[in-house]
Amino acid sequence: MKILEELYHRHLSCTEGHPATYIPELAKANVKNFAIVIATVDGEIFKVGDHDVEFSMQSTSKPFSYGMVLQEMGRDFVMSKVGVEPTGEAFNSIVELEKNTHKPYNPMINSGAIAISSYIKGQSFEGRVQSMTKAFSQFAGHDLRIDDVIFESEKTTAHRNRSIAHLLRHFGVIDGKIEESLDLYFKQCSFMVNTVDLAVMASTLANKGIHPKTKVRALSEDYTGDVLSLMFTCGMYDTSGKWAYSVGIPAKSGVSGAIFGVIPGKMGIAVYSPPINEHGHSVRGMRVFQDLSKELNLSIFRK
Ligand code: GLN
Repeated sequence: MKILEELYHRHLSCTEGHPATYIPELAKANVKNFAIVIATVDGEIFKVGDHDVEFSMQSTSKPFSYGMVLQEMGRDFVMSKVGVEPTGEAFNSIVELEKNTHKPYNPMINSGAIAISSYIKGQSFEGRVQSMTKAFSQFAGHDLRIDDVIFESEKTTAHRNRSIAHLLRHFGVIDGKIEESLDLYFKQCSFMVNTVDLAVMASTLANKGIHPKTKVRALSEDYTGDVLSLMFTCGMYDTSGKWAYSVGIPAKSGVSGAIFGVIPGKMGIAVYSPPINEHGHSVRGMRVFQDLSKELNLSIFRK
């Protein structure tokens, strides 16, 4: 696709942003890596750049674990534990837990996502990791793996997430297995994908929960709608409003430098470039989405 080549060359020279450093393994990322991929609901793939370089999903995993737990536990239970309101705060903010209901505002921020991971069913920790791996792999269409070096790197430095989990326990949002809940969350953040995988996972959401090629249903149509609405209002944290205004599609970013977006009924889009801004979004990724939205008229508000 010509536009992908153009966007790649337009933004290749960008030097803004830095790879995340608070998870030491992420600081090692090659800042030159840059890929843009579109995966359509018909199974077509358009790609440019370093699309086979692997990275950890980080927060791009949150929509998929949310979908999985909605499916396992039902909407009423999940809604009783985690809200659906944007915060206007950073992804790792703790302040909302001190307000009103003491429940996480939404599943796209760390507090909500740690709670969501804690509800994954299973007899043992290993069993829970396996069922998460199965659910995520159905979105991708092949078996995904967890990188244990990244997992350990986050686990040993996660003081802020650990404090969030303890507060969640204090307010009765999660049960007593605090470390296990955190480990599940860190494992989920350590799923390895490349940019094609992420675009394909997004295309499964665009295709009402059915993987375009394997035809396996990864999520019910109804819950796919829940996931997309949360991505739209909360997926870009405290810049979700600006994103709605300038890009206008449901999306989710991760501190490894990935952003994916979903055009329902049409395609999934993923961009990977490790340097991120102060909100945790890939700088090149944001620019590509802004340009792509304008040039392909993707915003759902500007039809
Ligand atoms: N694992 C990261 C964390 O919890 C994910 C954050 C992100 O990608 N925004 O801090």
